[in-house]
Amino acid sequence: MVDQKKIEEAVRLLLEGIGEDANREGLRETPDRIARMYGEIFAGMDEDAGEHLAKTFTVESNEIVLVKNITFYSICEHHLMPFYGKAHIAYLPDGKVVGLSKLARTVEVYARRPQIQEQMTIQIIEAVMEHLKPQGAIVMLEAEHLCMTMRGVEKPGSRTMTLASRGCFQEEPKWQELFFRMIGENKVYNQDLAN
Ligand code: ZN
Repeated sequence: MVDQKKIEEAVRLLLEGIGEDANREGLRETPDRIARMYGEIFAGMDEDAGEHLAKTFTVESNEIVLVKNITFYSICEHHLMPFYGKAHIAYLPDGKVVGLSKLARTVEVYARRPQIQEQMTIQIIEAVMEHLKPQGAIVMLEAEHLCMTMRGVEKPGSRTMTLASRGCFQEEPKWQELFFRMIGENKVYNQDLAN
C-alpha cells in the first residue's frame, strides 16, 4: 500500500519547488488526487504474478499460444514519466496452459510499478517460464516513452522495442519466425535489422 501522506507532502514540495503556489485553488486538491492515483498506477508493487499464473489447465497437444496487443501503461523509474504501448506474449506449452486473461494480468503486475522496459520484458518472460514451465516463451514490448518524446531528444512517435526469448523460441529460429508472422511484424522487424 502506498503511503498517501508522504506522497501528498512530496507533491506539495514539488509544486513549491517549481515556483508554484501549492495553495491556490486549482492546485489545492492536487496532492490528494495524485496520492490516490498513485495507489492505482503503482498497485503492482503489492502483487505477485504467481497468483495469476498458478491456476493452470492440462492440454493434450502442445500448440503455440499467443496473446498480442496487450495494452499497458507503466512509469519509467528514471523520470517518473509514463511509458505505454503493447505487449505480445507467446509460449509453446509443455502439457499445461493458463487462462488467456492471466497473461494480460501478468503484464499489469509488472507495468504498475516504477519500471524500465527492458526489465519488465524479462520479468514477464521469467514469470511465464517459472509458472507454466513451457517448452519456450517469447515476449515483445513496444512502447512510447514520454521522457523521450516530451523532452530531451524529442522524437514524437518513436518507439522502443524490447524482446526476450527462452527455450525453443531462443534455440529454434522457426518458432521466432512464427511469432513474428503471427503478430504481423515480420517485415518491419526485418527491415529494422537491415537498416
Ligand atoms: Zn525515462
